[in-house]
Amino acid sequence: KTPVPSDIEIASSQTPKDIMDLAKEIGLRSEEVDLYGKKKAKVSLKVLDRLRERANGKYIVVTGITPTPLGEGKSTTTVGVCQALGAHLHKNVFACIRQPSQGPTFGIKGGAAGGGYSQVIPMDEFNLHLTGDIHAITAANNLLAAQLDARRFHELTQSDKALYGRLIHGKNGKKEFSKIQLKRLEKLGITKTDPDDLNDDEIRRFARLDIDPETITWQRVIDTNDRFLRKITIGQSPTEKTHTRQCQFDITVASEIMAVLALTTSLKDMRQKLGNMVVCSNTQNEPVTADDLGVSGALAVLMKDAIRPNLMQTLEGTPVFVHAGPFANIAHGNSSILADKIALKLAGPDGYVVTEAGFGADIGMEKFFDIKCRYSDLIPNAVILVATVRALKMHGGGPAVTAGVPLPDAYTQENLELVEKGCSNLCKQIENAKLFGVPVVVAVNAFVTDIETELELVQKKAKLAGASDAVICRHWADGGAGAVDLAAAVVKATSEPSHFKFLYDLQLSLEDKIDIIAQKIYGADGVDILPEAKERLALYAKQGFGELPICMAKTHLSLSHDPSLKGVPTGYMLPVRDVRASVGAGFIYPLIGTMSTMPGLPTRPCFYDIDLDLETEEVQGLF
Ligand code: ADP
Repeated sequence: KTPVPSDIEIASSQTPKDIMDLAKEIGLRSEEVDLYGKKKAKVSLKVLDRLRERANGKYIVVTGITPTPLGEGKSTTTVGVCQALGAHLHKNVFACIRQPSQGPTFGIKGGAAGGGYSQVIPMDEFNLHLTGDIHAITAANNLLAAQLDARRFHELTQSDKALYGRLIHGKNGKKEFSKIQLKRLEKLGITKTDPDDLNDDEIRRFARLDIDPETITWQRVIDTNDRFLRKITIGQSPTEKTHTRQCQFDITVASEIMAVLALTTSLKDMRQKLGNMVVCSNTQNEPVTADDLGVSGALAVLMKDAIRPNLMQTLEGTPVFVHAGPFANIAHGNSSILADKIALKLAGPDGYVVTEAGFGADIGMEKFFDIKCRYSDLIPNAVILVATVRALKMHGGGPAVTAGVPLPDAYTQENLELVEKGCSNLCKQIENAKLFGVPVVVAVNAFVTDIETELELVQKKAKLAGASDAVICRHWADGGAGAVDLAAAVVKATSEPSHFKFLYDLQLSLEDKIDIIAQKIYGADGVDILPEAKERLALYAKQGFGELPICMAKTHLSLSHDPSLKGVPTGYMLPVRDVRASVGAGFIYPLIGTMSTMPGLPTRPCFYDIDLDLETEEVQGLF
């Protein structure tokens, strides 16, 4: 239709097929599917056992040029190319995308189900609670936070013996350690298993975690953009006996538990990762974990449903897995390994799985390869790199834009010079993808107002920079039909063998790994590691975390650390201000500049437009 209606109008004009029918179409058995109503289902991890011997489908990651406020359309392209592959070229195909946080849904960005005629439906359910995975993460995260402060409180207010007495449970008149307490005894090197046998020193070592409050990195979370929770004081009631402490709330998707969900490979592995999460150090500078706090079994219980991927569908009825949505700066910004693995088996050797990485190729794609593929052992076959003419014009020096105000002329009228200059960013991101040995197909995501000569220039530049192909696509306006050429280019690119390789070896020092990413991917001359960051790197190496991969927490708005530098910045040193660890999820994250883990609401949040039609009970105004 012209003009193209709003996202929610398009989404609600299509009736989704019964999700059980879709489940059968893609080869799932009824016992592997748990229905959440008629349009969403959770899929059992047992599929992986049943299809162990089947060869995987081709594995494709969607990434983009450095993002601008003008939007690139990675999710839209992920959905569009899957509609083309499935509904037009009749291939087995799965889209794997992230579940969005309610922060941006109600705040600034709006939904993340794609757009136009390339969307996941029902888009309101996709953007809101879905099947409750994010709520489960909130519950698990906050149980751990509550136990951390409660345990510290109990240690501060009781003697060794009293504390020990209360920590040991009595059953049928006999005291015994729980399973997780036995694990702690083992860690402490205490071989006794009868609670009455421990001597005073062992009682003290067992009962006291000696939490150093200054080192606590575990925060409480909520899935709302609530800026007034960025810094708070807890423990102000007299019942906590003046043990107040300053801390903060993060948005739920910034929780390490979200990163664990995205990177886990089985229930057993998730249980282990949850237990390994480090929440602080003790007064001897040793890491304190969720296992030490005795809470990891309960966390696994809270997360047992969330670990199963959610099945939904595109506007054209092809399958979509929606699963996990970690932050792309302090975490790795990719959907779950488990959804990709299940999809690759269901797709089979002639099928395709298209998964999306957040932000630009320097961030989401680099982390997809170096973190996600490292833990999944999956070999990617191709990269789809999304670019738009308008965003490239901004990289070429086009003027700033303001939300709600018409675009300046530079973006609506032909200006080949700006496009050409901006293509530097596209070319650098193509080079970045090729560093991993994987073929790159550039998707030039056309807006209806785009000018043909400009689109063709981008195509030409991309091919010159080494892309296997560059295709103009119109899936936003035309659905899958608009991305058939892109789909064909992807089929061709993935028919070659993959020469995938990681960017760095895990055995290198943490400093060297950071330096390689900064120089090779960001184009920096080197890194400036500030004293505080150096200290942390030394501590993590000493604590035994030196072989973890690196997850850079950097602005997504520039290849450098400075969001105002567009195109391809050169001649700079990348400053590493501080370093943190997500030991359970399995990465070290250097902080390049300050990262907000709790967004705020703007003056006019998206929810001004959101309402419920009281007759039909339909959600209105989501976009
Ligand atoms: P990303 O995944 O890169 O953040 P999205 O796919 O979510 O981007 O798209 C961002 C916004 O831009 C969405 O509202 C989407 O509808 C819109 N959009 C994407 N591609 C086009 C296009 N070709 N024409 C018009 N709007 C588009």
